[in-house]
Amino acid sequence: MGETRQNPWTILEILRWTTGHFQEKGVAEPRTSAEVLLAHTLGISRLDLYLRHDQPLTPEELARFKAFILRRRAGEPVAYITGHREFWSLDFKVTPAVLIPRPETETLVSSVLEVLKSENGKRKTENGIDWALEVGVGSGAIIITLARELPEMRWLGVDISGPALAVARENAARHEIAGRIHFLRGNLLAPLQPGPRFQLLVANLPYVPRPVWEELPKDIKDFEPQEALLGGVDGLDLIKPLVQAAPGVLSPGGWLALEVADGQAPKVAALMAETGAYEQIEKIPDYLGIERVIRARRRGDY
Ligand code: GLN
Repeated sequence: MGETRQNPWTILEILRWTTGHFQEKGVAEPRTSAEVLLAHTLGISRLDLYLRHDQPLTPEELARFKAFILRRRAGEPVAYITGHREFWSLDFKVTPAVLIPRPETETLVSSVLEVLKSENGKRKTENGIDWALEVGVGSGAIIITLARELPEMRWLGVDISGPALAVARENAARHEIAGRIHFLRGNLLAPLQPGPRFQLLVANLPYVPRPVWEELPKDIKDFEPQEALLGGVDGLDLIKPLVQAAPGVLSPGGWLALEVADGQAPKVAALMAETGAYEQIEKIPDYLGIERVIRARRRGDY
């Protein structure tokens, strides 16, 4: 974009230039990055970029877009620049205080829906309300999606980060679900009263083993919250205590569903088996075929 131009840039010209520039600079997903950032600059959809390919950019639009190009070139994830990310076809606010929702996490959501939707209406606790819990809510993408899909349940969301909880609360309000989700700050199950109350405990905890974390692309490592990613040397620093403590808060027959790293599933399944508290321990693959979710049920006779 260095040269002086007689005519203003059109949408298509600037897209082509930016894609090439990102490619040259080794930016991940150069074309998508250019499209999403330009659409965000102009306040239009990505499809509109192509419908209006001849439209010239005003000097103000160009200046704003240039600033986004520089941020993306420095590795900043597109979702932090735009402040949004889509998950399960819903729009979520994201800030650097929260992990950006990943497509593979939709596997965690569908693995929960698979068991809870079929039990719909059959679950009856004493006061008629079924409770579900998410530990480590981050942006709230998982708990909010599930709460919308399972409208008869009440939800409790825990996170250790105050700034993350603020984002989750805002997303809950935006998706008109705030009345059915209560958020609490704390580490794992620490803020909860003990007692078998929950029909579901779902969590996408930090699970990246330290050696893997060291090698992560800078887009992730330098920008996304370490406390949402890093799970200690083997990645199980948080998953292990949660697997051990979860039977204390799950109702008999209640479900535990956890997202795990590539290769972790057998270890987590073994941890579950060791407790003697779970049955129907299952490993569920994501769309890439990676065992991404472990789902199990608290035994009735435990
Ligand atoms: N899937 C994420 C990543 O690879 C990790 C998320 C997590 O630790 N829960 O970046």
